[in-house]
Amino acid sequence: MTIANRSLTNERVRKIPASGIRRFFDMVSGVEGSISLGVGEPDFVTPDRFRQAAIRSIDEGHTHYTSNYGIRELRDAIARHTERLRGLRYDAATEILVTVGVSEAVDLALRATLNEGDEVIIADPSYVAYVPGIVLAGGVPVPVATDEANEFRLLPRDVERAITPRTRAILLGFPNNPTGGVLTAADVAGIATVARDHDLLVYSDEIYDRLVYGTEHRSIVAEPGMKERSVYLAGFSKSYAMTGWRVGYACAPAEVIEQMMKIHQYAVMCVPTAAQYAAIEALRSGEPEVQRMVAEYDRRRKRMWERFNGMGLPAFEPRGAFYCFPNITSTGLGDEEFAARLFREEKVVVVPGSAFGERGTGHVRACYATSMERIDEACDRIERFVKRIR
Ligand code: PLP
Repeated sequence: MTIANRSLTNERVRKIPASGIRRFFDMVSGVEGSISLGVGEPDFVTPDRFRQAAIRSIDEGHTHYTSNYGIRELRDAIARHTERLRGLRYDAATEILVTVGVSEAVDLALRATLNEGDEVIIADPSYVAYVPGIVLAGGVPVPVATDEANEFRLLPRDVERAITPRTRAILLGFPNNPTGGVLTAADVAGIATVARDHDLLVYSDEIYDRLVYGTEHRSIVAEPGMKERSVYLAGFSKSYAMTGWRVGYACAPAEVIEQMMKIHQYAVMCVPTAAQYAAIEALRSGEPEVQRMVAEYDRRRKRMWERFNGMGLPAFEPRGAFYCFPNITSTGLGDEEFAARLFREEKVVVVPGSAFGERGTGHVRACYATSMERIDEACDRIERFVKRIR
């Protein structure tokens, strides 16, 4: 629509597509008998203790705005947690900002640090919000291909090759959505060296940091000389089964947090108060819950991975997050068509890999954060579908 030949909307926003995941999320609603492996969220309900803490906070009348940075008790808890987990010490007064999920933290980090035309290196494929987030902040995304043969790790030599005089930052999202790839210690050290050598900023989205299986997640921020040039992003959605609460956080040098806080302050003021109380409880008592859920994801991961390979859709063993990323090219269908037909014919939702970048083409993402029964039923249907079209 236009008024006097002018569009009502912003050109930059118009150019970015809506999320390729959301489309599949909306597909299932109201379709009886459908099974969604489409959306990346835990099937577990938020553990009771966390829910009770939020209810208690409301009953006690904690119904007002909090500090723009987040409740001090929560920031203190985040500081302790980050030190225990990653050996990183952040000042709760100036270096931590509680955000509306990691989604807001990513957006704020990009907007607070990028200038027009700055290039940001990202792994291809990677999380759907990175490219639009960079574009909206005036930056230029520079995808660096990752490869199945290397378990979709981002290799330091490939990062180095992508550097130009305009490169400003590297945005890392590992463990990776959609591939389940995890970086090795050597990858992390190598990328840190590239960042230091070329004086780059690093945004490290570690939302899946606790969801690793038979391996260790290493934070690039803990590498020598990296804390000063990094924005560490983490949250509660995945590890604590708290997607609907919308709590995440950013830890960074005070000068970066201060700029991020200004945008956050003007856009949203603060994270909903009750949700912050639930997050405090998650950090206080949630460790056994995290371990229980990770053990269950691990069982499901093995099942789904074996099932895909068993039906001739090769998938590398995912070591992190909660996704399998099988290669579907042997079916002769493109990933968009595969996903569309699978839904139409068998009512199973998966996300086409191309929604996550060019290198995702020929794959689909299937989330195993759902019950074993549903995984089995979905895999039976996918197997039937694959046999039929071959
Ligand atoms: N980062 C990655 C890599 C994700 O996969 C997601 C959600 O799927 C997010 C960030 C957003 O998480 P939140 O719920 O904390 O906003």
